[in-house]
Amino acid sequence: MATHLVWFRNDLRVNDNLALAAACRDPHARVVAIFIATAHQWRQHEMSPRQAEFIWLHLQSLHTSLADRGIELFIHQVDGFDESVECLNTFCEAQQVDALFYNYQYELNERRRDAAVEKAFGSNVICQGFDDSVLLPPGSVTTGNHEMYKVFTPFSKAFIKRLREALPECVTAPKIRGVILPETNKLTVFDYPRQPVDERLFPIGEQQAINQLRQFCRQPVADYHELRDFPAVDGTSRLSAYLAIGVLSPRQCLHRLLKEHPQALEGGAGAIWLNELIWREFYRHLLVAYPKLCRHQPFIPWTDNVAWRQDETQFIAWQQGCTGFPIVDAAMRQLNKTGWMHNRLRMVVASFLVKDLLIDWRCGERYFMSQLIDGDLAANNGGWQWAASTGTDAAPYFRIFNPTTQGERFDAKGEFIRQWLPELSSVPDKYIHTPWVWADKQPLTLDYPRPIVDHKQARIATLAAYEVARKSE
Ligand code: FAD
Repeated sequence: MATHLVWFRNDLRVNDNLALAAACRDPHARVVAIFIATAHQWRQHEMSPRQAEFIWLHLQSLHTSLADRGIELFIHQVDGFDESVECLNTFCEAQQVDALFYNYQYELNERRRDAAVEKAFGSNVICQGFDDSVLLPPGSVTTGNHEMYKVFTPFSKAFIKRLREALPECVTAPKIRGVILPETNKLTVFDYPRQPVDERLFPIGEQQAINQLRQFCRQPVADYHELRDFPAVDGTSRLSAYLAIGVLSPRQCLHRLLKEHPQALEGGAGAIWLNELIWREFYRHLLVAYPKLCRHQPFIPWTDNVAWRQDETQFIAWQQGCTGFPIVDAAMRQLNKTGWMHNRLRMVVASFLVKDLLIDWRCGERYFMSQLIDGDLAANNGGWQWAASTGTDAAPYFRIFNPTTQGERFDAKGEFIRQWLPELSSVPDKYIHTPWVWADKQPLTLDYPRPIVDHKQARIATLAAYEVARKSE
């Protein structure tokens, strides 16, 4: 009897998992599963303690789902990627594995690790990889010159055309094989520094994620285009944490959307949400086409010459939500408390760090990864490079968000601000975005900082710094 091994990574689910389904295709094969945690990822702050906890909770749930199907899941912890190759080798020998099944990860180090695994196994273990975390494989949506698109809109048009021609199919969860495993094999707890997850915001389990997707696609997705920019409103799906670690697949999202809104591919209800899923694809495809993005290099080379300021005090004020700009501070406190931030606010705080404080976008990118429950290298790098005007299809460098008017536009009455900054609860609506103006009229002082920069002056300084860098090209 052949033994098949499924190597789980960012695909912690049994439904629509291409590697798992392929491993189970032969009804006579014995199937086992492994997850290898690598310590260097949290030491380098590439993963937040909250995301580590989210992964751990989902591993427990996956362990049960697999055991119910007669598949045992083993967890190992190693130091770095090199050790994971050794660990896999030893495991395969001990379990007499004939074939290894895994879903591709597109980050550079992960791809190098996988190449090393395939090389180490030679012809002893057959390795099969799958493009599972994307709707269409990187490299399959290209320009007429077979190059990766550098601008999102033509990429999105070509992408939708491909989807209209043929939709990527979902695969079903494997059926029970042999006997259901008893709950005796306990999972090895890996010693990540972990931080509690608010399970009211992010319920644990694959079925919970599927329920949330179904609920969102019923009605909210049709209102998404109107509500998605207002952080006080629950107008987005909040599925990013599940998509980032693969508790949910993008194919499941697409099929559920089209079941409820068949016209989404033709620009009907749900089309704007589909577009967000395509942004996710765009950034993943870019990582493969331009591996330098994984090394945190800017896409536009001259932007590396911007003379960034090293201001630790202002950087800490930004991290802690103490900049004196209410919309920025409320957003950062939401991030620090929950591990999630609304998309509009990610753009606002990123712009503030880079364009108001002139601090290197990579500092913000790293801080986000150290806090986010949905941390994802491709989307995070793409978002930061967009905001810093250093990436493909980025905002032009001379377009600079004004943090006060962004607050006025997207949180007009300050509902979101008051939720996260209780110290501003007594400030009237009229001054909620400029509390320092109100404070100056009061006999008592407000327990809230004054703005740490003057936006107008900061804007001029940033434009000058980008201009100098551009001329040095
Ligand atoms: P919805 O609006 O419901 O969108 C559905 C899904 O589409 C999301 O769950 C996500 O998987 C994907 N998506 C939506 N917008 C984007 C986008 N602009 N780029 C790529 N994918 C998108 N997203 C992450 O998943 N991980 C990150 O680490 C991350 N870092 C970001 C950093 C910055 C500076 C910016 C500007 C954006 C970042 N995003 C990141 C993208 C986006 O902010 C989040 O995906 C979104 O806020 C998640 O909320 P949601 O699930 O309710 O999204």
